[in-house]
Amino acid sequence: MNFAEIISIESSVRTKPVNGSDRRRFKSKLSEVTKMGCDKANKSIGCTVHQCANHCDTTNYCALDKVNIGTHEANPSQSQCVDCESFVLKSGCGCK
Ligand code: SF4
Repeated sequence: MNFAEIISIESSVRTKPVNGSDRRRFKSKLSEVTKMGCDKANKSIGCTVHQCANHCDTTNYCALDKVNIGTHEANPSQSQCVDCESFVLKSGCGCK
């Protein structure tokens, strides 16, 4: 199941009279996808920064194909010196 299939099911639910069977089918498929996690999870980029818009919410992976890593230090010497420069603040996450 991918997002295109979910959109298709959602569209069919929206464009025709909704009966109990359609609603149950849609909820079931949506639940299936939620359990699978982010459809675009890049298993090569593990990440726990849930405040980032590129983070897969349900799994600890980044959704991007590639990220840029940099440093804010002149001479980085530990992991705290290194930053993900692809970070984008997720809107409405409450962080500043
Ligand atoms: S862009 Fe960087 S901070 Fe954001 S989810 Fe990807 S790896 Fe994490």
